[in-house]
Amino acid sequence: MFSAPYDKPLPRQGDPRKFAQQGARISGYLPVDELDRIKDLLHDGDAQAARVDLAFGISQERKLVVEGRAEADMVFTCQRCLGPVTLPVEASIGLAMVRTEEEGKRLPRTLDPWLLPEEGNTDLYTMVEEELLLSLPTVAYHEEACIDEQLLSSGEPVEPEPAENPFQVLKQLKGSPKK
Ligand SMILES: [Zn+2]
Repeated sequence: MFSAPYDKPLPRQGDPRKFAQQGARISGYLPVDELDRIKDLLHDGDAQAARVDLAFGISQERKLVVEGRAEADMVFTCQRCLGPVTLPVEASIGLAMVRTEEEGKRLPRTLDPWLLPEEGNTDLYTMVEEELLLSLPTVAYHEEACIDEQLLSSGEPVEPEPAENPFQVLKQLKGSPKK
């Protein structure tokens, strides 16, 4: 899937417009520990490194764009047994750099807006975190039966509704402008 080496951290700061004009390609790992909003959703804050591959450039519509991927195995809390469950998370990235939300609305459907200041460096980790958040599973369960079979046959309620679904909040993020 990935061919680039991931032995280096992804640079945190960079100027995306400059990267696009240069046709830069950036790869590296990103410690999920540094992504506070995702870390809070993981089992005991158990986090690994995401592998990130970003290709900057100029689209046919003359938009400055970034395309690429971020993927990581993340440890969630199983909503059935409350134990740790590792699930792969993969975000496909396709963003066009815009200055205003209005400009973002006029983009072709294949591109999501990445709202950026006119010039200068920005935090690339924040962008990757947004994209990973949008790609998290809506529920986290073990694939195999992870609750005691005897409980299943005793008539006890074995699948209590989680008090609060931490993933619910993510639905509200969909469609929100990128930082
Ligand atoms: Zn489970």
